[in-house]
Amino acid sequence: MTDTTSFRFDGGATWLNLMATRGQSFGPRPVERLSSLEAARSWLEQVGLAPADELSVDHLERLVALREALRVLAMAAVEGSEPALDAVARVHREAEGLSDISRKLDRSGAGVAVQFALGLIAVQALVSLRGPDRLLLKQCAEADCRWVFLDTSGRRHWCPSAGCANRGRVRAHRARRSTEKNDGHQRRQYQDGADDLTEREVLAQ
Ligand SMILES: [Zn+2]
Repeated sequence: MTDTTSFRFDGGATWLNLMATRGQSFGPRPVERLSSLEAARSWLEQVGLAPADELSVDHLERLVALREALRVLAMAAVEGSEPALDAVARVHREAEGLSDISRKLDRSGAGVAVQFALGLIAVQALVSLRGPDRLLLKQCAEADCRWVFLDTSGRRHWCPSAGCANRGRVRAHRARRSTEKNDGHQRRQYQDGADDLTEREVLAQ
């Protein structure tokens, strides 16, 4: 059964939250939360873009492909590199889904066409990436997550997922303890050496 309760909506924008529908993307076992049409419909409903039509496998594949293209653009933005051209092309192609906006808005009362939903998400990303939001994008420090989110505080180290912050803090704590242990060992060695020297000095007198 698809778990539709684990979506995250705290990344700061819908296009960023879409990225979080795949968890631990860079770990050995990524978590796919858009694993069925039911899950995709639920996610679209929860972001206010309930599909007016029945969702097809093609729609799901486009949503997932848009998500991964957005990830490429977001990561390039935070890393200060150029995104892959095929990812840019995909986002622009989906953004063109808004070209017939009047017809699609007519149907808004009964939900939106999936093409329109994808177009809105793509345009939101393009606006974020061109404007001041770009400077607020931050990448989660956990190597298996690396979710790009909006950090309005400017102080976050990890994404809003408590799991990432906890794992990171536990690791940092262990590293600190191990350093302290090594330091203590070295201090003891130094003290032993100092004691020896004092003993030699005493004998020399
Ligand atoms: Zn994270």
